[in-house]
Amino acid sequence: MTYLTVPISAEKIEAAKEQIISATKRKAEMLELRLDCLGGLDIEMAVELIRTAKKSELPILTTCRDEAEGGKNGYDENLRKNVLAQAIDAGVDFVDCEFENFCRKDFAEPVKKALAENPKTKLILSAHNFKSKFQNARKLHSEITALFPDCIAKLAYKAENINDCFEAFDILSENKNSIVICMGQAGIISRVIAKKLGTVLTFASLDENSATADGQISIEKMKKLCRFDSIDEATELYGIIADPVGHSIGPAVHNHCFAAEKMNRLYLPLLVEGGQRKFGEFLDNVLKRPWLGFKGFSVTLPHKTNALEYVTKSGNYIEPLAEKIGAVNTLVIGCNDRISAYNTDYAGALDALTGAMGIGRKHLKKVGCAVIGAGGAGRAIVAGLADAGAKVTIYNRTEKKAQNLALEFGCRHAPIADVKNTDAKIIINCTSIGMSPNVNASPVPKETIKPDMVVFDTVYNPAETLLLAEAKEIGAKTVGGSEMFIGQAAEQFKHFTQKSCDESTMRSAVAKAMRR
Ligand code: NAP
Repeated sequence: MTYLTVPISAEKIEAAKEQIISATKRKAEMLELRLDCLGGLDIEMAVELIRTAKKSELPILTTCRDEAEGGKNGYDENLRKNVLAQAIDAGVDFVDCEFENFCRKDFAEPVKKALAENPKTKLILSAHNFKSKFQNARKLHSEITALFPDCIAKLAYKAENINDCFEAFDILSENKNSIVICMGQAGIISRVIAKKLGTVLTFASLDENSATADGQISIEKMKKLCRFDSIDEATELYGIIADPVGHSIGPAVHNHCFAAEKMNRLYLPLLVEGGQRKFGEFLDNVLKRPWLGFKGFSVTLPHKTNALEYVTKSGNYIEPLAEKIGAVNTLVIGCNDRISAYNTDYAGALDALTGAMGIGRKHLKKVGCAVIGAGGAGRAIVAGLADAGAKVTIYNRTEKKAQNLALEFGCRHAPIADVKNTDAKIIINCTSIGMSPNVNASPVPKETIKPDMVVFDTVYNPAETLLLAEAKEIGAKTVGGSEMFIGQAAEQFKHFTQKSCDESTMRSAVAKAMRR
């Protein structure tokens, strides 16, 4: 069992008692009493808090951390070692002591004596590096377990990049009775994947404001967003590769759908910083470790072209239109580590459009389309429309980009100001004009819109842009950006699972995530 452990870290004992109640209500599986966080700590106070915690009937881990390893209040070592010994006597389940201190006879003596008298309490020996990786984490882990074979070795280090997490995974895969945590935003996945690898415990904070380490996420996020309760060693892993990634609604949407379809799969936010090189390193790391169970990825800014390049160089499969678009947003890892790469943006956009019009893609043939924008979204949509045989005119602020795109896909182009004269049946905004916070802007003058037009805005924040509101007023058919998001996510889900997700499930997941 991997205990989902909530640190109790208040400064005042009454507040710490409140935290215990709150953690129990939130279904923590273990309490970590960070006794060093209590102001004016003495033995009586420590024992009082342990007694209160025992009433929760949850397993208790006790720490009185040395300031040199991230502890609070600078308590002297006499107090710290005696607090730990008393905690053991009071019957805590786990006691966490710094490995370096435990190697010293004078420090270890009272703790060892208490452990000998209370064999039920398990000893965790920990080492921390708050700045970076350990020089050799594996060696340090072996050293701890060689010197103290009965202990649980715990390493906590800062991951400066997501690739730093793989050393932690390697140690955990070979040593179940261990704890290896990567701190920092790049290390968040280590806190979740820890459960799949069968580690002893992982930490989650009581709420967004009470994390005791960088990158510690709340128990609510851990349970709701990361499906913690359903993770086991057979869980297949997916995720969105991005930088930044925190804003992405992908994890909420895909995890909701996996849960609704009763699939043992987990979708993680994967912060991959450092461009093409680190992106390649990340995929290499994943492919070298099939036992991690990564099966697919969504890919977004700034890695869509990096994904294409990686797959091209490694001679894997690329969907022809994704190659033509020059961007990949979906990777699927199949048998023998073969990767298949797709672009579901164009399919999502086309499905949103044809769905709203009640037609099939083939009915787009020769239909006049005005596409505003020639960035990533514009490119994918132009490629999709051109592939379906539509008559596309591209309007873009930087005209040269419109010209190049038009040349590539056999379309026409015109200055962005000319969009006011368009007689196209379909108008699509692929720029960020009208996106929050600039919600009073529209890329198309209201007079241009006619009741028999279809107006599609790829912007999804706000859900109804000024362009869509005006188009609705005129009586034109409208399609919102969330429809495109739903379309591309639904396509990805199919690539990941070879199954369709129930449409209403996907819709409600997207709506809920966007509201949040
Ligand atoms: P991008 O590659 O950065 O391209 C941005 C485009 O917007 C370029 O054509 C740019 O013109 C134009 N633009 C930006 N500000 C402008 C302004 N003030 N006036 C005129 N044109 C302006 O971004 P992207 O990935 O294509 O995203 C574009 C939009 O699509 C965003 O609003 C995004 O939310 C939306 N999108 C939606 C989905 C979905 O699932 N619904 C998916 C992807 C993107 P220049 O070339 O002249 O710079």
